[in-house]
Amino acid sequence: SLSDRLGGVFDRLRGRGALTESDVRAAMREVRVALLEADVALPVARQFVDRATEAAIGQNVLRSVTPGQQVVKIVNDALVEMLGADESELEIGVTPPAVVMMVGLQGSGKTTTTAKIAKRLTSRDRKKVLMASLDVNRPAAQEQLATLGTQIEVATLPIVAGQQPVDIARRAMQAAKLQGFDVLMLDTAGRLHVDQALMDEMKAVADIATPNEILLVVDSLTGQDAVNVAQNFSDQVPLTGVVLTRMDGDARGGAALSMRAVTGKPIKFAGTGEKLDALEAFHPSRVAGRILGMGDVVSLVERAAESIQQEDAERMANRLAKGQFDMNDLRAQLQQMRRMGGLGALAGMMPGMKKAQAAVSQVGGDKVLIHMDAMIGSMTPKERAKPELVNAKRKIRIAKGSGTTVQEVNKLLKMHQEMSTAMKKIKKMGGLKGMMSMLG
Ligand code: GDP
Ligand code: MG
Repeated sequence: SLSDRLGGVFDRLRGRGALTESDVRAAMREVRVALLEADVALPVARQFVDRATEAAIGQNVLRSVTPGQQVVKIVNDALVEMLGADESELEIGVTPPAVVMMVGLQGSGKTTTTAKIAKRLTSRDRKKVLMASLDVNRPAAQEQLATLGTQIEVATLPIVAGQQPVDIARRAMQAAKLQGFDVLMLDTAGRLHVDQALMDEMKAVADIATPNEILLVVDSLTGQDAVNVAQNFSDQVPLTGVVLTRMDGDARGGAALSMRAVTGKPIKFAGTGEKLDALEAFHPSRVAGRILGMGDVVSLVERAAESIQQEDAERMANRLAKGQFDMNDLRAQLQQMRRMGGLGALAGMMPGMKKAQAAVSQVGGDKVLIHMDAMIGSMTPKERAKPELVNAKRKIRIAKGSGTTVQEVNKLLKMHQEMSTAMKKIKKMGGLKGMMSMLG
């Protein structure tokens, strides 16, 4: 396991203040092997390791954990980030009928997942759902969906023998409109490999049905080939998301990372069994844990980080109680965000910090944190305590001193301004404690 393999690296890393480049690179070589073993496609593993390396170098090692353990945590956080947020909601809040189209290789689980999603939409979201099978290639494919429909009490489009997929799609659209269905689910024919005739058929269906969602269904046991599958489908139709099936099996979850990297689309659901209620929201942290196989280390480091956060939070709470928030506070928060891989729990809880996080992730993550830190570093102590003092001339100096631009300095000042306002609001609401209790 990664734990064993990192053992040697851990020992060499033990007991230093900050993670050096050579330490990190040594650890990352092992991480890369672990990713490949978890079936992450090679180019994706490479790209990911580069990213995680950048995030890790120079980070301070937390007290009470080893540097190696911390590397694991950093890698884990980068994995979670790359796998994406829990974003399992479907885009179905449109003028009905919303159209959800399923695509993917034969046997990937399209028909089963169609029924699973239909069931979820019916029982959880109280939607009126119509399912239609466009699979005229496999005998009895349409009957398979009809049988599932009966099981879950969801309507299926009546089967008309000899009709072609595009015509079935047209008929389904019409039926959905006329009969007032909220959602129309189109289950398409599978392909054994990426076959151009079937791809063209799929494109033609997508053209006339203009789906709100086109979900690529992928078997999570697909190994290195996952990249090709994802690339091919994503080149031909505008995918909106991915569903990973057979997550109940012994897949290590690497396909998830490959899918996400190649399509850039969120993984919306995970299939976890043959039963029709075996559909779950996709949990990046769980899958990251599965890929790394190092859940214990991750939670250990999380606890260590938490205790530091607690101290920071208390210090912060004292300042907030007075409605204070200057550049030094901002800097401390930015450093914390960086230390926590941009995912500080405290940061996530504070309204002002949420804004900052969004701003930061929008413009490119860690680099921005470094730039901001450098800008604050180029301010005088007086300016840090009272940012209003920074005038046009000083902005130019600060930009020069920090290797940034005046625009970036402006952005930083604006961000501080917004956060400071948020902090004052918090004070009005009865301080951090009051806010926390409001959050439940
Ligand atoms: P399609 O060809 O893409 O439509 O695939 P099907 O929906 O017909 O599924 C093929 C097989 O995979 C069936 O036996 C399903 O029961 C099974 N299957 C689908 N999803 C899952 C899943 O999440 N877990 C497990 N264990 N089996 C699944
Ligand atoms: Mg099918």
